[in-house]
Amino acid sequence: MKILFAAYECAPFFKKGGLGDVIGSLPIALQKEAIDVAVVMPYYDVVNEAYPQKKIGEIQIVFHGKLATVGIYRGKLPGSRVTIYFLRNKQYMAIVNAAVSKEKYKEFAFFSIAIVELVFWLTETQKWKPDLIHCHDWHTALVPLILKKHLIALPTVLTIHNMSHQGTGSTGLLDMMHVDDQDAKVIKRGERIYELNILGEGIFHSDVVTTVSETYAQEILDSKSEDRIYTYLKRKEEEQGKRFIFQGIMNGIDYTVWDPAKDDLLQAPYTMQTYEVGKLKNKDVLLKKLQLPDRLTFCFIGRLVNQKGIDLISKAMDTIADFDCNIILLGEGEKKTEEAVRLLAKKYPSFVRAEIFYNEPYSHQLFAASDFILIPSHFEPCGLIQMIAMRYGTIPIASKTGGLVDSIQHGKNGFLFENGSVSDFRDVMKKAVHLYQDKKKRHAMITSAMETDFSWKKSAISYRELYTKILGERI
Ligand code: ADP
Repeated sequence: MKILFAAYECAPFFKKGGLGDVIGSLPIALQKEAIDVAVVMPYYDVVNEAYPQKKIGEIQIVFHGKLATVGIYRGKLPGSRVTIYFLRNKQYMAIVNAAVSKEKYKEFAFFSIAIVELVFWLTETQKWKPDLIHCHDWHTALVPLILKKHLIALPTVLTIHNMSHQGTGSTGLLDMMHVDDQDAKVIKRGERIYELNILGEGIFHSDVVTTVSETYAQEILDSKSEDRIYTYLKRKEEEQGKRFIFQGIMNGIDYTVWDPAKDDLLQAPYTMQTYEVGKLKNKDVLLKKLQLPDRLTFCFIGRLVNQKGIDLISKAMDTIADFDCNIILLGEGEKKTEEAVRLLAKKYPSFVRAEIFYNEPYSHQLFAASDFILIPSHFEPCGLIQMIAMRYGTIPIASKTGGLVDSIQHGKNGFLFENGSVSDFRDVMKKAVHLYQDKKKRHAMITSAMETDFSWKKSAISYRELYTKILGERI
């Protein structure tokens, strides 16, 4: 079985959040399940500088009425035999556009066309023809539509990693891609504006849609007409006249990258047997560097966007201040949320530190040095930081939503509080700190967290079953 993964980020080459982690590790787990997987992503300048690759070919594509050349480069996912193809074009795929840029729609449409051309090229020159393309999020959600437009009968799976990013661009994009309006399904025809929902197109034209946890899948279905995604799924089901597969498959984490026993980025690596000494050493070094006293330490690691619930931390700050603790925040993102985090550090200089940047090594050190990680997300499709934190013996205090519910057992390997409730967040934090003062109970919880299995194996088997089902139905 040959599967081509299409995504715009892939760790360690380029990573902005959990999607990068998933694309950098799930293919390796699938390969262990005897699936021949390759990955394709854009060859951004930043990737090129850090990971120069060998050019192996070139394809021509027609976009916006012009012929464009795309360079094909080939590499491997580190520590594996999984091939990754990088596609390079100076005009559309050299620079990673900021989230606000309008150009991103054009770039991902261009990338999606290039992916389809790559499939032809791989088939002809490399004798490698994928049986199925697995697209991830809206960035590559136009691929199924382009395949249909060219009458290519190649099955596709679309995984929604976060439905709050749907890619709603102008229908002018369809002209650039030389796709007729009638071929697209979810154009909203306003009085003057024609709007295209890219994720929606992916839902309609792919064979199967999945998301990254069972609870998030249910939340999407429960959202009824509140969100367009539900409406699209429903419409697709009606048009097909049969029950449509929409499945939640939980993400895992890469146990070779996230392993406190072998993590070179830590001051003192540690195992489940040596975590007490190990974590203390890591904590000692970090707190000295940040000029904070040695005491209970909470951390927050994540993209600074509304989703992640910094507002709840701000509102609960009076309670946190009573604990005799440190709180260390790491993240970057939207200006407004970054400002809110800076303000916390300014307002509470004796115990809050905020690092507003993206720094992979620092994140490892923070996971290892902290006692608790705060995850007050308003919604969380899967979430990886709770899994990473638990592997590092750091207890999550998280909202009862999405994948956090599926991965945290309240009172056993972490704490959950009612989504959006500041008072419950406060109460649960108090309980957590209380438990932490009880050495025996603390030890039981840390051990249970470290023992929880978040490896990819189970999910990889679920994906294999899904691919087999789709390909079986197609034959
Ligand atoms: P999301 O996919 O919504 O960004 P996840 O919890 O699934 O959230 O994954 C976030 C990933 O990004 C984790 O690997 C986390 O360590 C990493 N990360 C987020 N922000 C930063 C940062 N500022 N510096 C380093 N790593 C970060």
